[in-house]
Amino acid sequence: MNEFDLIRRYFAERGVRRDDVPLGIGDDAALLTPPPSQLLAVTVDTLHSGVHFDAGIPAADLGYKALAVNLSDLAAMGAEPAWATLALSLPQVDEAWLTAFAEGFFALAERHGVQLVGGDTTRGPLSVTVQVQGFVPQEKALTRRGARPGDHVFVTGSLGDAGAGLAIEQGRLEFTGPPADFLLARLHRPTPRVGAGLGLRGLATAAIDISDGLAQDLGHILTASGVGAVLDIDHLPLSNALLASGIDRAWRLAVSAGDDYELCFTVPADAGLSVSDGLGCPVTCIGRITAEPGQRWQDVAGVPCEPPPRGWDHFAQGEA
Ligand code: ADP
Ligand code: MG
Repeated sequence: MNEFDLIRRYFAERGVRRDDVPLGIGDDAALLTPPPSQLLAVTVDTLHSGVHFDAGIPAADLGYKALAVNLSDLAAMGAEPAWATLALSLPQVDEAWLTAFAEGFFALAERHGVQLVGGDTTRGPLSVTVQVQGFVPQEKALTRRGARPGDHVFVTGSLGDAGAGLAIEQGRLEFTGPPADFLLARLHRPTPRVGAGLGLRGLATAAIDISDGLAQDLGHILTASGVGAVLDIDHLPLSNALLASGIDRAWRLAVSAGDDYELCFTVPADAGLSVSDGLGCPVTCIGRITAEPGQRWQDVAGVPCEPPPRGWDHFAQGEA
């Protein structure tokens, strides 16, 4: 099978057809019609075998995740996803692998009305680069810059699941059964919070998606906004599966492990309980923004707690 047959069979003429794509896959470039008077939000992420994923990952999960991590970035901007491009580097043409990869990719693309409009296919070490474009009205984009003292800090969903899933996958955590499957699914099939991002337009003062761990990613909001935060470890949302895994002090995983792809955002204190309305997922208030810079983590009694540094091995002997 040559490159053109491969593209036609697995990637062209598949998935949703959008009216704003006068010319998609098949020419030298795609021709697209951005909506008038909206900003184009553009993001790209590369996943390398052995660096960002284990070579043994099911191809369908890889196809899903390569798109999911990009949709998560658009969600964090409050943008509505529309188009994607896909650059694939493949060591060989493996039809079963390509079938599964495309299935995972298009399953998620269809859920969000995203059309694959182009890409590049080359031979080389396995790596996947996905770029997505979306739209956000001017003045409505969510950035990292707008957090103000007194704002409440929220996160969507639950935290630490993907970190526990990775530990299970790598044999550092022995845990089996449906809760373990849930944690692995959180690692391989993260849910990009696209609906929440749209619902936060005009409400959140700052937002980021949590790919590198809450402490690190919240740190980007604090730096960009020139503020600090007080965070409550007892309010961190932990899934039943994570709690069932028996991990000691699971809050530390929730704070420092990556790959959850939840949103962290700030809202003015007077937004109150209405914050959770219409976001399509649970949200939890975990702290508030302060004028004093830095992060201060504490328990409900106000006792300071030191979060583990990034890269901390929660499962090393005697440290869990
Ligand atoms: P060119 O040599 O002009 O860059 P290519 O031969 O690389 O063109 O690609 C032919 C067409 O197929 C282009 O429209 C390109 O965007 C598309 N394409 C190539 N690889 C992929 C892929 N993995 N997924 C989607 N579209 C692809
Ligand atoms: Mg090309």
